[in-house]
Amino acid sequence: MGKIVRITGPVVIADGMKGSEMYELVKVGEEGLMGEIIGLAEDRATIQVYEETSGVKPGEKVEGTGKPLSAELGPGLIGSIYDGTQRPLTVIRKKVGDVIKRGVFAHPLSRDKKWEFVSKVKKGQEVAEGDILGTVEEGKIVEHRILVPPGIRGKVLEIANGTHKVDESIATVETGEGKKEVQMMQVWPVRRARPFKEKFDPDEPLLTGQRVADTFFPIAKGGAAAIPGGFGSGKTVFLQTVAKWADADVVVYVGCGERGNEMCDVLTHFPLLKDPRTGKSLMERTTLIANTSNMPVAAREASVYTGITIAEYFRDMGYDVALMADSTSRWAEAMREISGRLEEMPGDEGFPAYLASRLAEFYERTGRVRTLGGSKRVGSVTILGAVSPPGGDFSEPVTQNTLRIVKVFWALDTALADRRHFPAVHWLTSYSLYVGALKNWWEQKLGENLKTQRDEAIAMLQKEAELEEIVKLIGPDALPEPERAILEAARMMREDFLQQSALHEVDTYCPMEKQVGMLKLVLGFYHNAVEAAKRGIPVSEIQKLPIKETIAGMKRLSPEEFAEKYKFIEKQLKEQFDELMRIKKSSVGESK
Ligand code: ADP
Repeated sequence: MGKIVRITGPVVIADGMKGSEMYELVKVGEEGLMGEIIGLAEDRATIQVYEETSGVKPGEKVEGTGKPLSAELGPGLIGSIYDGTQRPLTVIRKKVGDVIKRGVFAHPLSRDKKWEFVSKVKKGQEVAEGDILGTVEEGKIVEHRILVPPGIRGKVLEIANGTHKVDESIATVETGEGKKEVQMMQVWPVRRARPFKEKFDPDEPLLTGQRVADTFFPIAKGGAAAIPGGFGSGKTVFLQTVAKWADADVVVYVGCGERGNEMCDVLTHFPLLKDPRTGKSLMERTTLIANTSNMPVAAREASVYTGITIAEYFRDMGYDVALMADSTSRWAEAMREISGRLEEMPGDEGFPAYLASRLAEFYERTGRVRTLGGSKRVGSVTILGAVSPPGGDFSEPVTQNTLRIVKVFWALDTALADRRHFPAVHWLTSYSLYVGALKNWWEQKLGENLKTQRDEAIAMLQKEAELEEIVKLIGPDALPEPERAILEAARMMREDFLQQSALHEVDTYCPMEKQVGMLKLVLGFYHNAVEAAKRGIPVSEIQKLPIKETIAGMKRLSPEEFAEKYKFIEKQLKEQFDELMRIKKSSVGESK
């Protein structure tokens, strides 16, 4: 047992800690506050404490637990709301009320609740790590698969059926090193990535129902995306919308140090929302980790690791998991604060030199993998991380270091948000490096060469930006008609395709087929408008075509209505332009 010699904010120095290990979990002070050893020199330990340290005094005891910071994994995760160190907030609230007191303890997974375990293996069967021992119906959406924990292989001697608590034995396995009891619950050190067999290249999209993401800058299952944006640019709304609609089996939402009211929004909204595919509450496929900005900074780091460990656990069952982290900047700021207290040599803007490697380690835990176990189970973890650069300046270290790692960059633009263009993902500064990898999927599943169409749409918007520069110099009247037609079509692409209200009942979610249809119609307008303008039809005439209104109204059509009307709209588009050209021809004829 050690003794506290110094306390600076969340960092505590203790002597007499011989025999301790790096990253060991310790209980600090008389109240037994939870902390983690982050530095060891002989018998002196540096500890980051996950709870408020005010009032703790030098001389108080520090006890080692012999274990690293770990997450409890098993039935009960789905629908739970945890803090960064996986304390179950709803249980704690029942215990002590709305304000969490220090040193309060409750098991992350209930030790009283009984779950119906249905075995999938027989006595005498050989099993290996990752094999499915049985299942538990946890919610209505996710079937919780109980796996043989990593490191265990051998013959099943006993297997239970029926109701059990998470820490009761459900199987006995004869391993090389003797009999091992297996429980439904596994305990896993959060800083260590869970093992898998092999990692695949991502080649399937994680569909979000957001047009600017799925069509323009898609994310692959097992990939990583960063969502940087200044205050009020819509990061939280975007992440929450994606959390609602993404075609993931399980969602882990980590509120890492954002303002309390935003997390509150998630906490109150999510349970009320319905999963669009199953009609059940969204919480039945979600685990929330809530660490608001008024909680101790060190806990932010824990929340990120706890979140990714839970995500990997569900991946190992063969599920596609999406992890949202809002915001990784708050985690980086916590690293900066702790590093400062440790008097480490600061790097860029005071962030520690290991900022880049910590971020990389986190994002590297994504991937689409073949899981352990004899079967061909495939699961994935996709990370969507918000970054909140001060003043919306993307050149700061957290954004820059994240950019080097992730392959999708959804850059939120404050100017767009100010103009109420939502989602404020800027089409010129954002990118996705998965477009090539997803090309085949698009062709096979949608029968479309979507890559060519999306490239054309982006090229058109780039052209718009160039033309706008010219307009600024010489005024709009000097532009030739075909170029004005491009501006008109680009405006439609922005307003009628890219803008998507997260608050509109229908528009909040746009399935892939509808996205493709909408894109094709706007591109159809573009081609026709430029062609018409080239033939001498003034853009002012094109602007009067009723098809413009029809295209603008596409967002509000339900996917079914849209599918029904698509051919008709396409026909109208063609007819209206043909008519314009016919009038033009005959008027040219008359004037001859
Ligand atoms: P941030 O997290 O970047 O500070 P928020 O996500 O809280 O910003 O967004 C700020 C406001 O912008 C929201 O309250 C909402 O009014 C608006 N907003 C953001 N995204 C959308 C969207 N997709 N659709 C409609 N409104 C949006």
